[in-house]
Amino acid sequence: MTLTPHWIGGRRYETAGDRLPVLDPATGQTLGEVLQADAEVVKQAVTSAVAAFPAWRNTTPARRAQVLYAFRNLLREHTDELAALVTAEHGKTLADARGEVARGIEAVELACGVPGLLKGEFSEQTGTNIDTYSILQPLGVCVGITPFNFPVMIPLMKIAVAVAAGNSFILKPSEQDPGVSVRLAELAKEAGLPDGVLSVVHGRQETAEALIDHPDTAAVSFVGSTPVAHSIYKRGAQAGKRVQALGGAKNHLVVMPDAKIEAAADALASAAFGSAGQRCMAITTAVVVGEAAEPLLDALKVRAEAVVMGAGAADGSEMGPLVSAAAQERVRGLVARAIEAGARPVVDRSTESVAGSEGGFFVGPTLLDNVASTSEIYLKEVFGPVLIVLRVDTLDEALELIRTNEYGNGAAIFTRSGAAARQFQREAAAGMVGVNVPIPVPVAPYSVAGWKNSIFGDTGLNNGAWRFYTQPKYVTSRWDEAVAGVDLGFRPN
Ligand code: NAD
Repeated sequence: MTLTPHWIGGRRYETAGDRLPVLDPATGQTLGEVLQADAEVVKQAVTSAVAAFPAWRNTTPARRAQVLYAFRNLLREHTDELAALVTAEHGKTLADARGEVARGIEAVELACGVPGLLKGEFSEQTGTNIDTYSILQPLGVCVGITPFNFPVMIPLMKIAVAVAAGNSFILKPSEQDPGVSVRLAELAKEAGLPDGVLSVVHGRQETAEALIDHPDTAAVSFVGSTPVAHSIYKRGAQAGKRVQALGGAKNHLVVMPDAKIEAAADALASAAFGSAGQRCMAITTAVVVGEAAEPLLDALKVRAEAVVMGAGAADGSEMGPLVSAAAQERVRGLVARAIEAGARPVVDRSTESVAGSEGGFFVGPTLLDNVASTSEIYLKEVFGPVLIVLRVDTLDEALELIRTNEYGNGAAIFTRSGAAARQFQREAAAGMVGVNVPIPVPVAPYSVAGWKNSIFGDTGLNNGAWRFYTQPKYVTSRWDEAVAGVDLGFRPN
């Protein structure tokens, strides 16, 4: 049994308080426990972060970048170890976990560019002998609250830019797979990050709220489900904090009649069943236009039946379990009710188990046709390996579905028509759009950010986060010896 401690002041920080169990999703067995931070532990973490801030803020961006380069190298060296920690507590396959670590490293590589990226603006002679310029300054202590589904990538997307910009940072990771976050903090220390610049405190709602409410935290960056994102956005705003809160998703992939059916089916199956559908950019909804439906369903059926489900660390496993028994029950319930409501189960592996892993939280790849746009399974985020198919006659109808859906994270089109692709790119009501690319998560020099109820706040992760983690200061400066005389008017420049 392992105990996952907090990380405060540059060391593992153990307390006697409450603990939560951490489970192996592939077996349902208890792997260990994680501490839960109460208000006193949160106070310790904030005190340490406040103390570390002035010296870190005064460290030159070039030196901060050196720490980040060293961190990046350590993350690369330890990729297999980090991936194994992710797989053990999250359940995703090792290959998928290695991919997650690689994406997290890309976020750190972006932040290594801080000396060139944190530039202000300068305008000469904005008045007579007057110059105006802007400086980007760090905020102070920033808080990150992260979901279970990317326990390395999402924390790194926050930590990298926040600390590169000169802030100190307190991470509250998901209580469902907390172990790897402490390892990230240890590696950051080994890379030279001063004690207190990065802390990790564990817990659930109470811990998150104590961090948001603490008078010495300046900003809150959240990623998780939409209801929690909305409540954190409101709570943070009420406390006068800067907040970005990224929420859930319902990502559509539109297949046009001219699309290459085999390529579209490969993309759909990968994007719907990869990581057991527990990606915020997973494709959950295929919107099939016109005659593409029949051949596409045939091709998808073959693929859904062929996916090898098993423990994330098992040889040959292509898809692991869901994260918890509650998630398993929720997804199975949604599938059962959808079929009752009239959806046609083309492949229903939702109740399948894995031999030798009967206690695991498995839900097999499931493909439902003829799903109505008013049905529960279309309107709710499923967060499991369930691909639903909606049939429409035109691209305009497909775009209308995307427009009226409450979520707007990602949307993609598969087509060989440039005109259809261009219309889709212009009109799809989503923050991240794919053209013949199923999961259009942009590379780190762009930003991860949805629209509508997939985000509250106006900045995303990665490159868009520089603005979130800094406050601009506008300076108007005059250096001359002239005596202007008293003038009570409002001078034109
Ligand atoms: P979640 O909302 O249950 O939990 C996210 C975090 O919030 C965890 O750290 C959790 O401990 C904490 N939390 C839970 N309830 C809280 C409350 N009432 N008050 C304060 N904190 C609370 O989400 P999850 O199940 O861990 O993650 C899956 C969700 O995250 C999905 O909805 C997925 O779409 C979303 N997600 C979105 C993105 C994106 O970029 N938009 C990326 C990854 C995941």
